[in-house]
Amino acid sequence: MKIIFATHNAHKVSECKQIANGNLDIVSLSDIGYTDEIDETGTTLEENALIKARTIYQSTGENCFADDTGLEVDALDGRPGVYSARYAGENATYQDNVVKLLREMQDKTIRTARFRTVVALIIDGKEFLFSGEVEGAISSACVGDGGFGYDPVFIPLGETLSFAQMSPEAKNSISHRGRAFQKLFAYLNNRYS
Ligand code: IMP
Repeated sequence: MKIIFATHNAHKVSECKQIANGNLDIVSLSDIGYTDEIDETGTTLEENALIKARTIYQSTGENCFADDTGLEVDALDGRPGVYSARYAGENATYQDNVVKLLREMQDKTIRTARFRTVVALIIDGKEFLFSGEVEGAISSACVGDGGFGYDPVFIPLGETLSFAQMSPEAKNSISHRGRAFQKLFAYLNNRYS
């Protein structure tokens, strides 16, 4: 079965294909030549995931899914949350965001946080939502050079390594996105097998 993953993010596509394990023909926005940015104007992960999936479904008429992820830090009252991509400003890089987060967390003793992902699936015009989360803590400095985004400062609960120090397989087996995609793929496998 062919399905579009409505993202321009090559890291997400690579994680998604590893989790799908060859069972689906996953094509990204780059694969279909869709170059527009989709404005994430929602105020929740659910709204943003739906905005991205609806935009692509309306434009292509093809079955598709999109994800939206936020890092919720307890000592920051849940920030950056839905604004994780733009935490340090509109055109912030991953590094800008991480630097801002580490600065804001400098004096905090409570460092618990979680990643939460919501996946919106549109299949034959019907919408479905799946979610996944992972608890963890914010480290005091960047560790590791794998992954992307906030991976170098996120240590999952019960682990000693940051996501950026883990293999893609290890990260996917416990991550927010891994858990949400497992639910998505279980649903698709059930429905189409
Ligand atoms: P998005 O809106 O779903 O693309 O995610 C918002 C931001 O969260 C991204 O720009 C990344 O900085 C961060 N992010 C998303 N997924 C991950 C992840 O798996 N690890 C670390 N950071 C992530």
